[in-house]
Amino acid sequence: MLKVENISKSFGEFKAINNLSFEVQIGDVMGFLGPNGAGKTTSMRIITGYLKSDIGNIFIDDKNFEADPIQAKSMIGYLPEGVPLYLDFSPYLYLDYVCQVREIKNSKKSIEKVINDLQLQEVKDVRIETLSKGFKRRVGIAQALIHDPKLLILDEPTDGLDPLQKFEVRKLIKNLSKNKAIIISTHILDEVPEVCNKCLIINDGKKVFEGTPNQLKRKVGKSLDEKFRKIVN
Ligand code: ADP
Ligand code: MG
Repeated sequence: MLKVENISKSFGEFKAINNLSFEVQIGDVMGFLGPNGAGKTTSMRIITGYLKSDIGNIFIDDKNFEADPIQAKSMIGYLPEGVPLYLDFSPYLYLDYVCQVREIKNSKKSIEKVINDLQLQEVKDVRIETLSKGFKRRVGIAQALIHDPKLLILDEPTDGLDPLQKFEVRKLIKNLSKNKAIIISTHILDEVPEVCNKCLIINDGKKVFEGTPNQLKRKVGKSLDEKFRKIVN
């Protein structure tokens, strides 16, 4: 579904991403881990077409992203870091706006589906500004899902949520994974075995581990121990 091939990206002299490659298939939930500044957000911006890599290629369904960026973007849902939203809008109006931008036909049906799936019924007509963090996050995830993308990129989807809200977002991700390829970046190592079947760790823009949560566990000891926590926190 997604193939990232030898991408590198520098900001001035600083190399943020250094020759990164990986693949994600439908059914995969890949945990994307690494300390602050490792290059997770930059990688996600490149995959979603918000930034261009200096070298390397992104393939979506075997097609080079650059060959038809609009078609590629139509297959990707993206929750950016920090969940930017139009705070003056209600969830319903915001989702309607996203439908217009994405030129979604039958938008009413698509909006109703995500409002239902993300349990936004009770808040759909109130200003986003007044919503709790958990509801805001769900609105952000709803806009990422509204066009039923095959590839879903979620940048720190549980960051800053309380334990119950975190649990609900993880449950949602698990339910979505059947017919999508999903990448979630996270600081929380415990999330990896809980929701992911793959994980990739980067540090200083370079891949330092790729494998299953079990392989990761074996690598770092019986449990996900202190030594490893230091790498990802
Ligand atoms: P992460 O999401 O893993 O915390 P980022 O991808 O946000 O990491 O950042 C990786 C590195 O690239 C950081 O050192 C950051 O300061 C730098 N960086 C990211 N975006 C820019 C930019 N637009 N200009 C300059 N440096 C940037
Ligand atoms: Mg980040």
